[in-house]
Amino acid sequence: MLNANIENDCCELCGHRIVAGFDELQHPQFENTKIARCCGLQRSLPYPTDKQLKNFYGTLYNSTYKRSFAEAIPDFVLQRAKIQHQWINQHEQRHKLDIAEAGCGWGELLLTFKEQANSLHAFELDPEAVTFIQDRAAKEGIEKFVTVSNEALENSGSRAKYDLVLSSHSLEHISNPLAVLQRWHSMLRENGLLFVEVPREDPVPLNWGVSATQPYFAGHLTFFNQSSLVSILKKADFKILAVESDLGPMTPVLMQVALGPTYDGGARLIRVLAQKAKQQL
Ligand SMILES: [Zn+2]
Repeated sequence: MLNANIENDCCELCGHRIVAGFDELQHPQFENTKIARCCGLQRSLPYPTDKQLKNFYGTLYNSTYKRSFAEAIPDFVLQRAKIQHQWINQHEQRHKLDIAEAGCGWGELLLTFKEQANSLHAFELDPEAVTFIQDRAAKEGIEKFVTVSNEALENSGSRAKYDLVLSSHSLEHISNPLAVLQRWHSMLRENGLLFVEVPREDPVPLNWGVSATQPYFAGHLTFFNQSSLVSILKKADFKILAVESDLGPMTPVLMQVALGPTYDGGARLIRVLAQKAKQQL
């Protein structure tokens, strides 16, 4: 699916080859993948193959989380989008913005910007989500400035044409987040903003699962903390404008219920607003 040509076992931050130790955690969803660490970045090693990712996200993920675009938008998605929109608006209140969202699901966050947008572009791989967003934009009478691509934002060319790129709980699902962030950087206009929110999963929370026998079932590929998220954004040449950790709402109830013995009481998500700052001449 993504970045098949990258070195699958080199650290995004320092470039060194990472070797997983025998005692490192086996990734619960992907065979032959461990969860290892270099430079504070905790990630899958090696990243799962395209086939493994397709198998997991194409079927198991939606069925396990009962994610259905035929039903109402889940409450946590509605609440989360509202909070994210307010948070971003503390820094960005301009209008007539060209905005894209990577992996936008129901389109909830993207569409909260409809009053401020010149154009809204949804990048979404799930065909059911694509149809959902198109129907929704038509119902809300905003289809004229909403477009949807059934592809990943990072595969969509690199012309700098956006003022704001949104990524809500998608970066942790993507192989080689550094390459992806660099691509998003190239797609932003000068001084354009990137909003990223990910779950805080360092240490990997082995109680965010579906049952006692499947204590972790999110299929994430990178397991961020605040410092590793900030480091990788800086490495991708972004300037950090704001960063915050919070308790949610962020995940389906299924995952929030079991705050078991490995939950350390810390914040559960990290959000960052970063800027494509002026290049030095
Ligand atoms: Zn490293």
